[in-house]
Amino acid sequence: MTKTILVTGGSRGIGRSTAILAAAQGWSVGVNYLADREAAEEVVQRAEQAGGRAVVVQGDVAVEADVLAMFDRTESTLGRLDGVVVNAGIVAPPLPLADMSAERMRRIFEVNVLGAYLCAREAARRLSMSRGGRGGSIVNVSSVAARIGSPFEYVDYAGSKAAVDTLTLGLAKELGPDGVRVNAVRPGVTDTDIHASGEQPDRASRIGVQTPLGRAGQPDEIAQAIVWLLGDASSYVSGALLDASGGR
Ligand code: NAP
Repeated sequence: MTKTILVTGGSRGIGRSTAILAAAQGWSVGVNYLADREAAEEVVQRAEQAGGRAVVVQGDVAVEADVLAMFDRTESTLGRLDGVVVNAGIVAPPLPLADMSAERMRRIFEVNVLGAYLCAREAARRLSMSRGGRGGSIVNVSSVAARIGSPFEYVDYAGSKAAVDTLTLGLAKELGPDGVRVNAVRPGVTDTDIHASGEQPDRASRIGVQTPLGRAGQPDEIAQAIVWLLGDASSYVSGALLDASGGR
């Protein structure tokens, strides 16, 4: 039986690699994106070439109606969900907290915290056996920023990821008896476009060389950890915060 997942922010970076790897391993994949439809369609194409089924699902994770619609569209096209990767996230340009606007912090918390909680809530509703689901796996994408704090860069982002860690710990306890495992992957600096979106296009190489492994991670390396946590190979792992950070 094919199993189905939804990957939020599945069109680029870590989500893209996760969607393609999962499809190659037999999952059907809902590929969520916010703005870049072309990128999402390319991921669907790659997933199909890898032998899987996939569908593009537009929506802003910070908007409740969009979240409901993206879950509905994935299930109506690909079948009932067995897993969700709560991955979509944003950063902003580097600033000390003293110089951050409320507007900037609000958007970071809306996408990274409210968005993660809304998607995890929807996953809980649909996967829980007591609510008619089949059980399954939720993987939240956090960050090592949650324990580093990201001073002078983005303590707002770091705090948003600490909330994702706490969500993971609590939800794993709520949903274990319902047949749902909940874990987080905490990437270290990874070579994606997110750094350019935060006006630091060289950040991955600059920080990467300072890590114990001496380089930034590649999105495919983070995807391996996520897809492992999705599948039965990790059947006794729940409530874990798995660092994939090159030792940082
Ligand atoms: P990325 O390359 O910038 O890709 C972000 C993805 O999220 C895109 O598919 C984007 O879609 C989507 N997205 C953004 N805002 C969204 C919203 N409001 N609703 C729905 N989708 C949205 O980012 P990434 O580096 O792969 O990061 C993925 C996750 O890993 C994030 O949670 C990030 O915090 C975490 N992480 C990344 C690093 C790193 O160094 N890269 C390190 C630690 C943790 P559009 O293109 O359509 O906007």
